[in-house]
Amino acid sequence: MDKDYYNILGVAKTATADEIKKAYRKLAMKYHPDKNPGDKEAEEKFKAAAEAYEVLRDIEKRKIYDRYGAEGLRNSGYSGPGNFEDIFSSFGDIFGDLFGFSGGNRRRSQGPVPGNDLRYDLNINFMEAVHGIDKEIDISKRETCWTCEGTGIRPGCKNKICPYCQGAGQVTRSQGFFSIRTPCPECQGQGEIITDPCNDCHGSGLVSKSKKVSLKIPAGVDTGARMRLRGEGEGGRKGGENGDLYVVIHVEPHKFFQRDGDLIYCELPLSMTQAVLGCTLNVPTIHGEKSLKIPKGTQPGHTFRLQGEGVPSLRGHGKGDMVVEVKVVIPKKISKRQEELMQEFAGLESGEDEHHSEGFFKKLFSGI
Ligand SMILES: [Zn+2]
Ligand SMILES: [Zn+2]
Repeated sequence: MDKDYYNILGVAKTATADEIKKAYRKLAMKYHPDKNPGDKEAEEKFKAAAEAYEVLRDIEKRKIYDRYGAEGLRNSGYSGPGNFEDIFSSFGDIFGDLFGFSGGNRRRSQGPVPGNDLRYDLNINFMEAVHGIDKEIDISKRETCWTCEGTGIRPGCKNKICPYCQGAGQVTRSQGFFSIRTPCPECQGQGEIITDPCNDCHGSGLVSKSKKVSLKIPAGVDTGARMRLRGEGEGGRKGGENGDLYVVIHVEPHKFFQRDGDLIYCELPLSMTQAVLGCTLNVPTIHGEKSLKIPKGTQPGHTFRLQGEGVPSLRGHGKGDMVVEVKVVIPKKISKRQEELMQEFAGLESGEDEHHSEGFFKKLFSGI
C-alpha cells in the first residue's frame, strides 16, 4: 500500500502550503517525542507526519507524489526524512515558531547553507510555445559573496564563539512538562557571532546581483510548464550549494488558433456558395498555409482533420493534428442581382424541399 500523505496530515489534496504547515504543526505538537516518552506509536506517528510534511511542502516532491505516488518518489531518489535529528534540523523553523522564536536563520551551527530556490514567471506568445524559442531573461537574485566566500566574515578575521550557547547553536527550553531544544536566540543557531562582518555583504554572505539567464524553451510547451535550471537560484552560503531556478511558462492565447495539448483547433468561415459548390482553399496552420479541398455540399459544423498539422510533442516524437470546423456564413446583405438568382434558386428547390420540410414538421407534431 502506498502512503497517503494527505490522509496522514488530515488535509485535502488541494490544501495550500499554509494549511499543510498548520496541520503538521498540530501533529508534531501532539506526537512530539518529548511529550510522549517511550511511546512507540506516538513516535511512528511523529515520523510519519514529518515524512508527509517534507514531501507536501516541497513543490517538486509534491508534484511527483501527486502524479506517481510514494513509490514514484522513491524511484526519483527520495528516501524519507530519516531520524529525529534530521527531522529537527530540517523543520527547525516550525519548532522555532512553536516555541516563540522568530526570524533569523535557525540552522544548526556552521554547516553549509544551501541557497533558496527561485521562481520566474515567463510569458511567451502562442507561436513561441508551439515552435520553441531561445530566450534570455533578466533575474535579480542574491548570489554568494565571493569576497568572503559566503561566510559573511571579513577575510582574515574570525568569528567569536556564542557565549549564550557556548557554540552549540541550540538551547534547551522547558515548555510545561516537556523540554525541547531550540536554536539559540543569541546567535540564531549559528553557534558563533560575527564580530567583523564582510564589507561587501555586511555579514549575510550574499550580495544582490542581476543576471542574464539563457533559456531553451522546447517546442510544444504549454501554460503551467516548468523548467528547472539547476544552480541558478539564490547562492549558497558557507560552501552550500546554490538553489535552483524554476521558470514557469504562461502562454498567451491566439486570435485564430486554439490548443488542447498537441491538438490545434480553428474555425473556418465558408460562404454559402463555397459550402454548396465545394472549393479548394489555403488554410492557415501553425506550420504555414495548407491547401484543403472542401467537397460539394459541406455542412456547417463539419470538421476536417489535418494530420500532423498540430503541436510537436514535448517528448520529441511526432506532431498532433489540426481540427478545422466549418462555419457557414450567411450574407446579411445581398445585391439585387444576387437576390433575383436566389429567388430563382428557391423556385427550383420548392418542388422537392418545401414538401420535404412540411412533411418533416407534420411528423414532428403528429404526436401532440
Ligand atoms: Zn548561541
Ligand atoms: Zn561577504
